[in-house]
Amino acid sequence: MPFLDHISCGRFAPSPTGRLHFGSLVAALGSYLEARACGGRWLVRMEDVDTPRSRPEYAADILRTLEAFGFEWDDEVMVQSRRSERYREVFEQLRVAGAVYPCGCTRSELTAALPGVDGAPVYPGTCRAGLPAGKPGRAWRLRVEGEVAFADAVQGRQTQHLPREVGDCVLLRADGLFAYQMAVVVDDADQCVDHVVRGADLIHSTARQIFLQRLLSLPTPAYAHLPVAVDAAGLKLSKQTRAAPVDARDPAPVLRAAARFLGLPAPPERRLAGAEFFAWALAHWRLDRVPRLAAIAIQEKIA
Ligand code: GLU
Repeated sequence: MPFLDHISCGRFAPSPTGRLHFGSLVAALGSYLEARACGGRWLVRMEDVDTPRSRPEYAADILRTLEAFGFEWDDEVMVQSRRSERYREVFEQLRVAGAVYPCGCTRSELTAALPGVDGAPVYPGTCRAGLPAGKPGRAWRLRVEGEVAFADAVQGRQTQHLPREVGDCVLLRADGLFAYQMAVVVDDADQCVDHVVRGADLIHSTARQIFLQRLLSLPTPAYAHLPVAVDAAGLKLSKQTRAAPVDARDPAPVLRAAARFLGLPAPPERRLAGAEFFAWALAHWRLDRVPRLAAIAIQEKIA
């Protein structure tokens, strides 16, 4: 059974910092099947808000690859790099409400801070009560408070004490770009996304996103965090670990492996691809069969 019982909207939101690898294909497939199984819409959003790390040629390649695999999305692809005015508008709302503050700390000044749940330093609050004398503001941070809990449809109940586990996060970076946490909350709300299916590597961001949604009086989507694909050494397949891109000329074995990864039975034919694969996968899709694990190691040849 889909985990929502009304017409809903899901999305796949790749960052064009490399080509699609097996891990990102799993996220695309899981979000697609859950959305379509609910009879819902499925959107693709290009998360190139971090413009220095993004490349238009990767964005084009990701869309071509999704198409070659047989994914069909609704509406035009939303592109974050074209939305800074909208982010600015929401940021101003937060600024006027006193929910964000300027921070003058440099990266090197934060190296002594303890790492939080996502490995990044927990901001020690140096500039929270005002910029120390002589320290110019560089970035803008969100003032986080209290604990956020949510029920994840795959990973179960999650709670995070924001000040202790992640700390005040940057929403507007020192280089003038908006941060992922800001863009994703605004975009999910503007696109009426009401269920988010993505990799469990992002689960530590969800409490911050819910906190921000509440501050802005935006609805909170339902969340499902899929296991992430890791290599034999336990490292997440990613552009950073140079995971091999999926082969768009031969989708069948990759789709088959991604389906198995997500708990679907083995497809009836080895070479099932395109519309036939999706018809079969939709008929068998069940979010409650997705392994309730944060990570699954996969064989070298698929990675
Ligand atoms: N752009 C993020 C990534 O590629 C995904 C963000 C999300 O799904 O919220 O890892």
